[in-house]
Amino acid sequence: MSLYINQIRQLAALQRVDDGIHAVQLELEAAPREVQELEKSFAAQDSQRSWIQDKIKHLQDQQRRLNYDIKDEEARLSSSRNKLMQVENDQEYQAVMREIDIMKRQNQTREEELTALREELAKQEENLKSQETSWEASKNELEMQKSGLQKRLDACKEKLAGLEAQRRDVGGSIEPPILKRYEFIRDRLRHPVIVPVDDGICSGCHMMLPPQTFVELQRGSSILSCPSCQRLIFWSANIPEEAAPQSAEQK
Ligand SMILES: [Zn+2]
Repeated sequence: MSLYINQIRQLAALQRVDDGIHAVQLELEAAPREVQELEKSFAAQDSQRSWIQDKIKHLQDQQRRLNYDIKDEEARLSSSRNKLMQVENDQEYQAVMREIDIMKRQNQTREEELTALREELAKQEENLKSQETSWEASKNELEMQKSGLQKRLDACKEKLAGLEAQRRDVGGSIEPPILKRYEFIRDRLRHPVIVPVDDGICSGCHMMLPPQTFVELQRGSSILSCPSCQRLIFWSANIPEEAAPQSAEQK
C-alpha cells in the first residue's frame, strides 16, 4: 500500500506542475483572442462613429447650400422690389408681384427645411458626443492591450520554460512505465490526467465506477484507470491530501 501511495503522490505532484502548464497554455490562447475581441468591438464602434460623422458632414453641407440659396433669393427679392418702383403699368406691377410671391414662398420652404436640418444636426451632434467617451475608452484600452500582448506572451513563455524544467525533475523520479501511462493519457485527454474518486464517482468524468472496480481501487494495490474516461484514478480516502476537487474538461 505504501509503495502504491507513494506512486500516486508522485503522479499527483506531476499533475500539479501540469496544472500550472495548463493554466499558462490557456493564457497563451486567451491573450491574443482577447485583443482580437477588443479589436472587433472597437471596429464596430469606430464605424458607427464614422457613420455619424459622415452624416453630420452631409447635413452641414446641406445647411450651407440652403443658407446660400436663401441669401441668393433674398438678393433677387430686393432687386425685384426695386423693379416694383419702376413699373409703368398695372400689368407689369402684377407680374413683378407674382415673381416676388414665388420667391418668398421658395425661401419660406427653404427656411422650414433649414429648421428641420438644424434639429437633425443637433441630434446627430448629441449622438456623437455621447459616443465619444466610450469610443475614446475603447481606443485606449485596445492600444494598451495591444502593446501589452507581447509582454504577456513573453511572461507566459518564461513561466512555461520554468514549469517544463520542473516537470522534467518531477517526472524523473517516477517509474518509467507509470510515467509512460501518465504521458499517454496526457497526450490524448483533456487536463487533468489523475483524479480522485469520491463516493465511487470519478471526479474526471463524473461517472459511477463499477462496484468491483471501486472495491479494487479502495484496496490500493495497483494504479487503476477510470473505465469511462481512462484517467488515472485513486480513492480520495486513501490519499486525502491529494484529493482536492479537480474539475475536468470534457473532450
Ligand atoms: Zn472518469
